[in-house]
Amino acid sequence: MSGVRPLAQATAQAVESATWSAGVDVGGTKVDAALLDEDGRVRAAVRTLTRRGVDGVVTSVVEAVERLCAGVGLTPTGLSCVGVGVPGMVDGASGVVSHAVNLGLGEAPVPLASLLEQRLGVDVVRVENDVNVAALGAADVLRIEGDLAYLALGTGVAAGLILDGRLRRGHLGVAGEIGHVPWGDRGRQCPCGQRGCLELYASGSAIGAAWPSGRGRPAPVELYEAAAAGDPGAVRIRDEHAEAVAMCVRVLVLTTGVRTVVLGGGVSALGTPLLDAVVGVLREAEAGSPFLRSLRLDERVLLAPREGHVAAVGAARLAQDAVVLPTVTEVPA
Ligand SMILES: [Zn+2]
Repeated sequence: MSGVRPLAQATAQAVESATWSAGVDVGGTKVDAALLDEDGRVRAAVRTLTRRGVDGVVTSVVEAVERLCAGVGLTPTGLSCVGVGVPGMVDGASGVVSHAVNLGLGEAPVPLASLLEQRLGVDVVRVENDVNVAALGAADVLRIEGDLAYLALGTGVAAGLILDGRLRRGHLGVAGEIGHVPWGDRGRQCPCGQRGCLELYASGSAIGAAWPSGRGRPAPVELYEAAAAGDPGAVRIRDEHAEAVAMCVRVLVLTTGVRTVVLGGGVSALGTPLLDAVVGVLREAEAGSPFLRSLRLDERVLLAPREGHVAAVGAARLAQDAVVLPTVTEVPA
């Protein structure tokens, strides 16, 4: 899982033009990185294991970028910018990360962007929450125009929001924290201190708790397969999961007005069975509500692409937007 895949031949011209960028998605277990050329095409990709702690995370990112560059004859200092997505609370302006418990970064806020600028010798390094960069990447890879919510169904549940063409982080970065919207009067206790949060029903962890993996494959896959085969217990849990995800879709559309909701995160690897189940719930709700029917919720839900290094591409895109373009520009004829 650690080979560099050069997708195309780089040229000396690319080194001089300094218009290429790198995006790095730092997950709890692995790092996915992509090198983008001046047209935004992925020219190389690399996947490595995540090391924990401040030094570990910095080194993981630096090594991924160095290997991307080496694979096509570049050096990191020749890049225009680097974008990084991390699971945690991020101040996008300063690149300071806090509450990144999955990366073992500790209690104190970590100035990850400036640490990486120093180590990489790159002027522009942007750090952002991982779900937010995945939202940017999904918009790019799926070529989605208009407002978008990227609903990440993984260990937890959260959404990245692109409204009016920009990330919406919200006060204290809380925009899109839909996993902690309590769902009706259901009473499971959430670690956040509330009861009945959507995350306790819609996440991959929720499935893992309700239908533990018995054959070594991801719990969502085993659950949805057992449900498709008619196991009544599995059907009940699958339906509850699909209802919770559909509730997330409803809340996102009704509160933000996004045109598209992309289902992402580890659970979305289920593919069509997940999409079908969620769309089925939405259609049922629409059957009883002319209002919902008029919104065509069932037509707005898409699956995140499995390929294409979505979050890494989004991280690079975010960094590109922060690069100050030269003032001398060609006037179109
Ligand atoms: Zn909660």
